[in-house]
Amino acid sequence: MIRHAEVVIIGGGVTGASIAFHLAAVGVRDVLVLERNSLASGGTGWSVGIVRQLYPTPETSQMVVRSLAAFRGFRDVVGGESGYIDCGVVIGVSAAMRPKLEETVIRQRSFGVRAEVLEPRDLARIEPRINGDHLGAVLYEPESGYGDPTAVTTGYAAAARRRGVRIEQGVEVVAIRTAGDHVTGVETASGDRVDTPVVVNAAGLWSGAVAQLAGIALPIIVGRHPVFVVERDAGFGRPHLVYLDLAGGSYARPETGGLTLTGSLTDDEAQHPMAPELLGSDVSLGDAADVLERTGRAIPRLAEARYRRGWVGAFDITPDWMPIIDESPVRGLWIAAGMSGHGFKLSPAVGEMMAALITGAAPPVDPAPFAFGRFTATSPSGTFVASYLG
Ligand SMILES: Cc1cc2nc3c(=O)[nH]c(=O)nc-3n(C[C@H](O)[C@H](O)[C@H](O)COP(=O)(O)OP(=O)(O)OC[C@H]3O[C@@H](n4cnc5c(N)ncnc54)[C@H](O)[C@@H]3O)c2cc1C
Repeated sequence: MIRHAEVVIIGGGVTGASIAFHLAAVGVRDVLVLERNSLASGGTGWSVGIVRQLYPTPETSQMVVRSLAAFRGFRDVVGGESGYIDCGVVIGVSAAMRPKLEETVIRQRSFGVRAEVLEPRDLARIEPRINGDHLGAVLYEPESGYGDPTAVTTGYAAAARRRGVRIEQGVEVVAIRTAGDHVTGVETASGDRVDTPVVVNAAGLWSGAVAQLAGIALPIIVGRHPVFVVERDAGFGRPHLVYLDLAGGSYARPETGGLTLTGSLTDDEAQHPMAPELLGSDVSLGDAADVLERTGRAIPRLAEARYRRGWVGAFDITPDWMPIIDESPVRGLWIAAGMSGHGFKLSPAVGEMMAALITGAAPPVDPAPFAFGRFTATSPSGTFVASYLG
């Protein structure tokens, strides 16, 4: 069968769904989202969903501020629930990191970020269960928190459908058709052909393989990032704030049912390349022990928490740990990938920016730092922790 669409989006994760919603919102309704599995079955469905606002550049600061507003106003603007909980985020840094933190926060205020740099002793009034002994300062973001990546994806998808977007699940793209220097369509595993002048690669962990279908090499590696779930003891009290311990190398975010999700902040993902098919598989107890020890130092009460389970997650990582939001050298083939662990918290802004770029409008945030051609190396030179403070 031969069909036609104005835009084909490959991938029904939070990125593809947000782009579909934002395209429809600016009037591009003949959009077809092709998802080989089911919505949010990729990295999105395994995400921890933390929304912190500390970012070192004007563009990422603007993106996270816009995205936070979108999560908070999701019900009114998009419909459905983002599951956003503004419990507050605390970020602990070493003494050496403090000057950079102070500079960054001053810059970020002009973009509307609400955050204050505090002394470790101030934890006593904000979150006394955090251990401040090894910290040089803490950042407190009272409006930050976490959301539900699957709910955001299905919310965007439902709203896009109401505006005419077609979303097909269980449909894998196996070929990208080109003529000369531009894209002309895609082919699916069932033998269908969809003619289109615009294809968006929003295939997350699989974006490298999808780009290869058009002969494009993306400088993206898939790096392992396991997540662990612990059950807080009955005497723990109210859920803790989200805590990102940049000095000690771990994070913890509360979950319903007395649970806490925790993982590593040691920048080692790029050293652990992984086949994306392993996403969601079991973790080893050795992995868990190492991270839980660090989490127990960060929030000592969690040292007594009972380990429940874990899963293998992964990030699609570019050399500078920042996304690619740009047209590829094949005209009409756009890339929204390489989210490098930021893909949930930036997804509303990525959708807005891609919709503007594809329709030739001015994007709400300067896309220059996310250009396809910006890389001189193919392996990561930046770090995830550097994506907080530069
Ligand atoms: C464990 C973990 C923790 C995280 N924590 C955070 C966090 O705290 N905060 C934050 O902001 N971000 C976090 N992230 C990152 C964020 O969740 C991801 O960047 C984001 O969800 C990626 O969304 P995506 O739509 O780009 O990709 P995906 O969700 O991976 O979606 C890509 C989709 O493309 C589909 N696909 C692939 N190939 C094809 C094909 N050929 N044809 C059709 N469909 C195809 C896949 O099935 C998949 O559903 C985390 C990620 C993980 C895994």
